[in-house]
Amino acid sequence: MTCAAPTARAADLLDGKAFALQLREKVGALARDFQARAGRKAGLAVVLVGDDPASQVYVGSKGKATLAANMNSFEHRLPDDVAGEELLALIAQLNSDPAVDGILVQLPLPAHLDEQAVIAAISPDKDVDGFHVINAGRLSVGQAGFVPCTPLGCMMLLTDRLGDLSGLEAVVIGRSNIVGKPMAQLLLDANATVTIAHSQTKNLPEVVRRADIVVAAVGRAEMIGRDWIKPGATVIDVGINRLPPAGGEAKGRLVGDVAFDEVREVAGAITPVPGGVGPMTIAVLLRNTLVAAHRNAGIALAENAL
Ligand code: NAD
Repeated sequence: MTCAAPTARAADLLDGKAFALQLREKVGALARDFQARAGRKAGLAVVLVGDDPASQVYVGSKGKATLAANMNSFEHRLPDDVAGEELLALIAQLNSDPAVDGILVQLPLPAHLDEQAVIAAISPDKDVDGFHVINAGRLSVGQAGFVPCTPLGCMMLLTDRLGDLSGLEAVVIGRSNIVGKPMAQLLLDANATVTIAHSQTKNLPEVVRRADIVVAAVGRAEMIGRDWIKPGATVIDVGINRLPPAGGEAKGRLVGDVAFDEVREVAGAITPVPGGVGPMTIAVLLRNTLVAAHRNAGIALAENAL
């Protein structure tokens, strides 16, 4: 009797683009309700210093997405050599403007500006990026605040896929303040057993192989290979890396931190790059802005509405 050769089963794709679209539609509908109840639209102010092309693209798409979600978008563009005092004065003005619910300062800032001082100047109640130390503190002690958009988006994809994360082994690779650390905190709050790995971690592939959930936030193209992954694991690839242009390409391809094609053969589910985590970030920014608007206006938002 002959047995059919086992066929490799590719991991399911976690479609961040579709998920983000649904979230943006939900935010848009709730933003309309907010307008009816508050007598004004929710508003997001975005501050861009300088003319970095990537930052201009990000700010442009955030503005468009905000308007499409029935919220006001206030864009403030400042020159590359703006004085720190001028930027801080703008933030103070936005902090006290009742039409502004959320404030986002596009990073990175030019080298002469003190990024930490700028973030600290934003009112924690309008800090929809969740970068203020008060919000980092609130997250770490389990109080309601604002959680950085990218890790919160990853968490939404994970709970949508896996439901209850209790007792699962999670390895987060990367320990930045904007992705790795808040990601680990969210996983811990969801009762996962969490390891944070980083550039000094020994035997990294072995550590990652323990994980039911892998979140890669490093910034090294296709670093994580097939033999790092436990069969069936859920893999969230936060990395965005551009490869050098190959064979006639004008620009190199965008890839994640995970070697997608080979890891897909062993993982249970995986986010693609692009189209995975990236679209979630803006959708969660809109979500955070709408939450801020409700809090600022003293209007209740049903728990788990978003
Ligand atoms: P970062 O540079 O601040 O942090 C990178 C982390 O990776 C560090 O903690 C470092 O310890 C760790 N690291 C570096 N080399 C390593 C190695 N060889 N082995 C293990 N760990 C190593 O970066 P970040 O801001 O956290 O961003 C990480 C990646 O995620 C980048 O590619 C960035 O572009 C991407 N990103 C994507 C989104 C999105 O919306 N999809 C948002 C934010 C960041």
